[in-house]
Amino acid sequence: MSHYSIRCRNCGKIIQNSYCAFGEHCKDALLVTDYHDARFVESTSAGSVWRFNWLPVHEPKLVQPVPVVYQSRGLAERLGLTDLHIAFNGYWPEKGALLETCTFKEFEAAIVLQNARENGIEGLIVASAGNTARAFAHLSAVTGFPVVIIVPRMCLTEMWYLEQRSPVPTLAVGDGDYADSIDVAKKIAQTLEIPFEGGVKNIAKRDGLGIVMLEAVSKMGRLPDHYVQAVGSGTGAIGGWEMAERFVRDGRYGTRLPVLHLGQNLPFAPMVHAWDKNSRTLNPDDLRPELIGFITTRVLSTRYPAYSVKGGVFDALTSTKGRMYGIENDAVYAGMETFLKTEGIDIVPASGVAVAVLEKGIKTGAIGRNDAVLLNITGGGETRLRREKETYAVVPKFISKNITEKEIEEMLCRILKKNS
Ligand SMILES: [Zn+2]
Repeated sequence: MSHYSIRCRNCGKIIQNSYCAFGEHCKDALLVTDYHDARFVESTSAGSVWRFNWLPVHEPKLVQPVPVVYQSRGLAERLGLTDLHIAFNGYWPEKGALLETCTFKEFEAAIVLQNARENGIEGLIVASAGNTARAFAHLSAVTGFPVVIIVPRMCLTEMWYLEQRSPVPTLAVGDGDYADSIDVAKKIAQTLEIPFEGGVKNIAKRDGLGIVMLEAVSKMGRLPDHYVQAVGSGTGAIGGWEMAERFVRDGRYGTRLPVLHLGQNLPFAPMVHAWDKNSRTLNPDDLRPELIGFITTRVLSTRYPAYSVKGGVFDALTSTKGRMYGIENDAVYAGMETFLKTEGIDIVPASGVAVAVLEKGIKTGAIGRNDAVLLNITGGGETRLRREKETYAVVPKFISKNITEKEIEEMLCRILKKNS
């Protein structure tokens, strides 16, 4: 018997005999994982991330590094905080941070691929704005699980792989953005009859990103009062919130959910504007693709964020009395600089957004000086890693967002045959 079941957030129905859920039961509602063990348990026999009981996998073989959670001195002092904890996801060997893809998306990829494999799925189509692609490409190469990756051309300049000749087919949509890549990915999935990874709807994805909260509570011995993160789709923040709900149910780590403090990079900040109006609906005007050209954090550029969906960002903010923050490019760079100076390692622009959110939260009084704060540095050590190790530019095959079924079949059959 499995140690979890999958439940509809809206009506509560348990999805029978399904442990790998990409879809939905009620329309516009997420499915969530119910772990039968309400108590948080860390196995002493399994190492790294696999020691946690709240993950939808059974027999993982892969060696998967953990996020490093530590109490901050430098940044804490700069900001006047007494209890700041940093979850560092990336490459920083002296700290024990060994994620060579330099992104917390590696946890998502690890759990999704393991969950898919255990459920008899033989391959996945993945859409990404950059980080997710690198994470899936790396773990696909390491584990041999086939994936096809679709990215927008505009994100290619910031993309790199750990493998020189990646066995993973990567397609770049030349005439579209991240949202168009998601549409193309779904079309390819349908044509080739290989499942689309499901985005935020995949429970394994959110639980994988929730590893940050698992590791943090394991280290801190309690739930933080505040959780700070930059959001694109919001999948990571929802994953953190869902893990926090499990800890509250457990009861030994605190009775209050951490307040979510989430940031987006202005002027592309659809969730910030909607939340400011206390609206569950995103305004199409805030989703205009041309706004994406002005932001420095392209990985946060999805026009399909998981905001309105039942169990999504709106509900997470409501349930935790959370806040959204719009961050200007200048503040993003300043946040990166501050972190480098005070903690001693480079961080990616999305993490710069998170540092700026934290500063704003303190300034506005939403975060108290003595509160326990968890700052999720979702990516870092990239400059350091690329100085020390060889990394490679992504060599994609360019496609149009209007690619036809026939073209998909011809092209991908050729690529997949070549690789097999
Ligand atoms: Zn339902």
